[in-house]
This record gives sequence, structure tokens and C-alpha cells, in this order.
Amino acid sequence: MKLYLYNTLTRQKEEFQPLFSDYVGLYTCGPTVYNYAHIGNLRTYIFEDVLKRVLRFNGFTVKHVMNITDVGHLTGDRDMGEDKLEKGAAREGRSAWDIAEMYTIAFQEDMDRLNLAPPDIWCKATETIPEQIALIETLEAKGYTYATGDGIYFDTARFKDYTKLSHQNLEALQEGARVERNPEKRNATDFALWKFSPKDEQRQMEWPSPWGVGFPGWHIECSAMSMKFLGDHLDIHCGGTDHIDVHHTNEIAQSEAATGKPFFRFWMHGAFLNIAGGKKMAKSAGNFLTIQYALIEQGIDPMAYRYAAFQTHYRNPMEYSDAAIQGAQNGLSHLRNQVRHIRDACTEGDAKMPGEVYEELKAKFLTALNDDLNMPRAMAVVQEVLKSDMPPAWKLETVLAFDRVLGFDLDRVGEGEALPEEVQTRITAREKARQEKNWALSDQLRDEIQALGYVVQDGKDGMKVIKK
Ligand code: AMP
Ligand code: ZN
Repeated sequence: MKLYLYNTLTRQKEEFQPLFSDYVGLYTCGPTVYNYAHIGNLRTYIFEDVLKRVLRFNGFTVKHVMNITDVGHLTGDRDMGEDKLEKGAAREGRSAWDIAEMYTIAFQEDMDRLNLAPPDIWCKATETIPEQIALIETLEAKGYTYATGDGIYFDTARFKDYTKLSHQNLEALQEGARVERNPEKRNATDFALWKFSPKDEQRQMEWPSPWGVGFPGWHIECSAMSMKFLGDHLDIHCGGTDHIDVHHTNEIAQSEAATGKPFFRFWMHGAFLNIAGGKKMAKSAGNFLTIQYALIEQGIDPMAYRYAAFQTHYRNPMEYSDAAIQGAQNGLSHLRNQVRHIRDACTEGDAKMPGEVYEELKAKFLTALNDDLNMPRAMAVVQEVLKSDMPPAWKLETVLAFDRVLGFDLDRVGEGEALPEEVQTRITAREKARQEKNWALSDQLRDEIQALGYVVQDGKDGMKVIKK
């Protein structure tokens, strides 16, 4: 079945075919590790995870590269402001290297909590400095660069298709960007390839280069890393929509200027998550919405956020509210219960599902997925299967196969799952009763829990409650 994906370059859905055979090179811009990821960032990573799983479900072999931006991303997109890593270090009184290490681990934990499959290659900007310098040297040799007092810049006027991704009006752009313009830049859209360390100050992260001690620009990092690890397999490059106008536009300009060849063929962008009720999500706000704060501390299973993300198409803005996430939590619990029930209803003697029945259901599921990752429709197909009159064993087999894309770990339903509230409150009350040696109340609560369908086991490590 053909796979259609929306390509930001052409502003239309196009049939996707890898450049070579069935091997897909996928590059997704990774986190800037100066703080925790917020749930908006994570929406983009969920979209990218689905993309990768859908490519694999279609039978492609995917090589996924994700970078860690651990230097060079400034607080202003157009090379103004401070380095986010050095800013994070000052905020927390630790070194920029420690900050990068700590928030990289935190990000990988968040990925785990959302069941985001890790990339095949993690790469760090600070570990690919020689490749970045080599790329700048190529651009210099081809006459695309110039020096200012604070760095080496890319001359965007020399690249004729500068706005081919953003479709912006170049003249208006040059005018509009003048306010924050560095007077030494030839064009407002020019961007730093290499920034010099301040003369009177030693930065924590800096390297020697042919132009002087300094650090790379954010955009050159992604160009160098994607070319290094994907070579000619430059199939799909992703990020959030905020990357279209500057970061990805600049990546394309410098990469194509350097190689003389088209850079990635497909550019895909996830729409933003917006917060209802004026809560702040941004990393710059004190208590911003991390998985820990927005979900776990509110009693929400992080996987419910994955479920919530599937209710909106990735190219539509998603509204986040307490009610919406609670609705997603209920939806996920319901789905898990459905799976539990069909699993309980399966028996040894059930007939095997004929291959053609599965193929037909898979085709339906793929029709939704291959229409530019239409997850709301794919989720509807899952419900159709669960509510059909097929034998439970067939339903289970189908839904577990689909779960390779959904990523809800439905084969592990029941393991360590949250208990219903009426059970949980009785457990808490029973623990208290036992501490107070009120054995009569403890026994009564045990009977109530059992009447709700759970078995209570008292062991030396405390009470264990398992579904009957
Ligand atoms: P950063 O760590 O700032 O480089 O951002 C990581 C990823 O999150 C990038 O792909 C951004 O485009 C994306 N992103 C940032 N804010 C949001 C948001 N509110 N909703 C969805 N994606 C976002
Ligand atoms: Zn990037």
C-alpha cells in the first residue's frame, strides 16, 4: 500500500518512497539539553515516534538519527542572546557539561515513559565539532561565508532558494528582521556558522578553529550530524513547526550550498501543543509543564499523554487542558480493560485467525496510517476491531499487531497498572487500620477489596493487590 506524507517543502501530501531501495534515513532534531523537556516538545517527539513506527509497519528499514544539542543554541533564533547551555549552567550553579549530561538523561527517561523508541544513533553536537568545522571550511572555499567581529556568517543572498521551505516573502523578511539585526550582517537572514568566544571571557564550551576559538552555530550542527550519520540516505527530516522559518531553512541553505545536491527530500513538521487556561508551558517559566509536574504529580499515567496525542492529527494544533488529559486517561484505561477482557475470554481451543482476515484488517489500519499518519482514524479502526463479533483470540492477535504502531504495550496490560480508585482508597484505609492494629476493620476492607474483583495477599513487604 502506498504511503502518503505531507511534505512541508511542497506543501502537499506526496507518495513517500525512500531514495534507495526500502531503507529510510530519518533525522529528527533532538532536544536542547539545558532544562527538562516540556509536554509541548514531547508532542513533537510522539509524532516522530509514530512516523518511525509507521515506516517500519510498512516494511521499511529505518535508520533513525537524533541529535542532542548541547552547545550553540542561543536564546534568540537569529544568533542573538546567550547560549542556552551556559545560561542553564549559571541558573543551576553547575557546569555546562553537567547540565547537558543531566538533562540528556532526563530526556531519555521521558522518552521511556512515553514509550518512544530510542533512535538507532544518538549524536551530540559537542562530539561532532571537527565535522562542523570541515563543513564551514567547504562553505568558505565556495565563497558563501564572511567574517564579522563576533563570528563567521553564511551569506544567504548567495543561496538562491533561501525561502523554499518557509515560503516566506524574502523582502518582507529582510525588513521585518531588522529590529534585532546585528549591524555587521550583510542581510538580516544571514546566520552564524561559527561564533567567537568573547575576548575577555573564557566560555565553558569552546574549541579552536581556523577562524579563532569559539563554538558552532546551532544550524550547522544538524547539517553536519545528519550528513555524517545518514550519508546519502537523506530521506526525512523532522521537527516542530517553529523550526521551519529559521532552523531548517538555514540547514537547507548551508547544506545544499556545500554539497551542490538537494538536502533532505521530505520535511515533516509537528504542530504545536497549546495550553488552555493560560498555564505556562515554556521552559523559561518557573513551573513549566514537564511529564513529572503535569502528569505524574497529577496522578496521570504518562502513557495517557501518548493516547491524548493520538486524538489530534499531528498537523493540527492540540489543546491541552486538565479535562482533556483526564479524558485521555479514561480512554487509555478503557482500552486496557477491553484488551484484558478479550485476553481473559481467549481459550486454548480457539480457532486460529485466517491470514486473509488479518490482512483485511491490517489494510484498513494502514489506510488510516498511510494517509499522512491519521492516528484519530487509526484509533477508530482499533475500536472497530475490539467491538466486532470476531472471536476474542483474533481480536487480541490483531490489536497486539497494531500495537507495534500504537506503542501502548498492550501485551503487558495488567502489569503494574494503576488500580481503580475505589480499590486504591480501601488499600490506603487498610494500611492505616493495620498500623493501628484495628484487625476487624482491616478484615472488612480486605473483603470489600475482594468483592471488587481483587485478591489481597499480605506478605512481609506489605500488602499486594492483584486482579482476580
Ligand atoms: P528544543 O528543545 O527547544 O530544541 O525543542 C525540541 C522540539 O520541540 C523541537 O522539534 C521543537 O520544534 C518542538 N517544540 C517546541 N515547542 C513546542 C510546542 N509547544 N508544541 C510542539 N512542539 C514543540
Ligand atoms: Zn536541528
